[in-house]
Amino acid sequence: MDSNLKSPPTAAACRHLVVVLGDQLDHDSAVWDDFDPARDRVWMAEVRQESEVVPSHKVRTVMFLSAMRHFAQWLVEQGYRCDYRRLTDRENTHSLPSELAAAIGRWQPEAVVMVAAGEHRVQQAIEAAVAGCQATTPTPPAEKKTSSRRKSAGASDLGAECLAKGGPRLDLRPDRHFYSDPEEFRAFAAGRKEVRLEYFYRLLRKKHDILMDGGQPLGGSWNFDQENRGSFGKRGPQGLKPTRSFPPDEITQAVMADVEACLPHLPGSLEHFDWPVTAADAELALDDFLQYRLPDFGQYQDAMWQGEPYLYHSRLSAVLNLKLLSPLTVIEATLKCFHQGRAPLNAVEGFVRQILGWREYVRGVYWTLMPEYLTRNELAATQPLPEFYWDGQTPMNCLSQTIRQTLDFGYAHHIQRLMVTGLYALLLGVDPQAVHRWYLAMYVDAVEWVELPNTLGMSQYADGGVMASKPYVASGKYIQRMSNYCTGCRFKPDERIGPTACPFTTLYWDFLAEHRERLQANQRMGFQVRNLDRIPAEELVQIRQQAAQIRGTQTARTTGEA
Ligand code: FAD
Ligand code: SF4
Repeated sequence: MDSNLKSPPTAAACRHLVVVLGDQLDHDSAVWDDFDPARDRVWMAEVRQESEVVPSHKVRTVMFLSAMRHFAQWLVEQGYRCDYRRLTDRENTHSLPSELAAAIGRWQPEAVVMVAAGEHRVQQAIEAAVAGCQATTPTPPAEKKTSSRRKSAGASDLGAECLAKGGPRLDLRPDRHFYSDPEEFRAFAAGRKEVRLEYFYRLLRKKHDILMDGGQPLGGSWNFDQENRGSFGKRGPQGLKPTRSFPPDEITQAVMADVEACLPHLPGSLEHFDWPVTAADAELALDDFLQYRLPDFGQYQDAMWQGEPYLYHSRLSAVLNLKLLSPLTVIEATLKCFHQGRAPLNAVEGFVRQILGWREYVRGVYWTLMPEYLTRNELAATQPLPEFYWDGQTPMNCLSQTIRQTLDFGYAHHIQRLMVTGLYALLLGVDPQAVHRWYLAMYVDAVEWVELPNTLGMSQYADGGVMASKPYVASGKYIQRMSNYCTGCRFKPDERIGPTACPFTTLYWDFLAEHRERLQANQRMGFQVRNLDRIPAEELVQIRQQAAQIRGTQTARTTGEA
């Protein structure tokens, strides 16, 4: 790979400059279809800005950068030339668009080739950088030749030099990683009053003949949710095997040192980093999941247990989102397990639903509704995010455990995200933008196309019901039922007022009262609204006063977010 510090590039035009972003480490990407090592060049860049737009957890940052360096090594082994900007390069401008403009200036490509980025903001910035190179007045060849050798030239100077023939065109290739694409989702959504997961999932199951028996779902049902809501009981999970570990190799260790040196202020710890960062390790992680955890995935997918971050979950989201692992590989391997009798149908369907269903569905929602989606705040929530989200310092045991685990591992499973950190923010009335920035920052697998609909839509109901048919709200009793957090907590989940009342429970009834009018119009909330109406009027006044007190005592962090 070309290290821009070690060997300053010579001005030599190339045919295609292939953009590979940190979440595009796809060995089967369409950008390689016609790649010609003699004429084309890959561009990759590690920039500080992408870790600071939101203060990205150190684990997330290392995950991306280490996977990128391993991928670049693979490219070089293929004989591909790679213009790779490292975090520690002295000339790094630490912004993707200016680094890209500089690379266009260096290589003067006929075309910039890429698949669309996983974040609307990044795609816009890249398109603007390429368009900026196209729009600049062409530099006369003689002048251009001289200036392209200026090693100290700034990014925009270099970008201006890309206009050998009026600048490069942008060649946007289809993204083959997914089962579906945004066009298919838009066609599915057109004319529907409600665009729910269930029907999109069924459409994909039929189309790809997954878990089908002729035209009908295998086992006679599209889902087995009733079998998939188990908790562990008092004894906790039995015979749980630790997940396969991927200790940092030399490359990852170098990245960790670079991140500690260049971005020491980022949240989280690297002490326990053991994520797969290559396609080969991603396959090993998949095998480990299929062998030891898939059979119990269905039954326990909603359960939580203190000190057990992964339980029966797959830990595959990060390698999937960075495209080191394809969903096709995952689903085919899962179906094979089923057909060999190694996992029951409820577990297999539950897992397939996450990958073929939710993952494809949220991508469709994101690309159909962005950028307007980002601004939604249906419940007009304005509270700041409590400071303890950044350090876990709260007496509420469920939150403290989930946040500390997140700081240590960059991971929490779905129900921890939805029904602990997400639920508390929703009940408290936190500004969904602040909640979104936190989730985008804190998780090893966070990429905006998947994070935003989950946070804004599913968790915070800020999209007014696009993703979820009702707000996911519950009292502390739900957390008590699904975990052992409450046994180590000074609060009582069934108390709604008083000094030991669980704040989730107080805020839950306050939430129902605050949004009563909207909620009573929703059939699926009828039961909860009727229960609210059973609370004596004087007690409801006290609940609302205690909820106001809770809100008044939450302090927000004032520093650290860019
Ligand atoms: P498993 O439980 O083993 O699930 C298997 C796979 O299914 C996951 O790897 C993932 O690829 C997919 N999947 C599961 N649930 C979802 C879902 N709701 N949406 C899309 N894909 C899903 N997932 C991310 O990948 N990135 C995020 O930034 C992200 N942010 C979230 C924010 C909130 C508020 C919530 C409620 C959920 C979020 N999720 C996100 C979805 C889900 O929590 C994670 O995918 C999952 O916890 C990852 O762990 P795992 O790989 O062990 O998943
Ligand atoms: Fe969380 Fe309430 Fe249970 Fe404490 S009692 S762990 S705050 S749900």
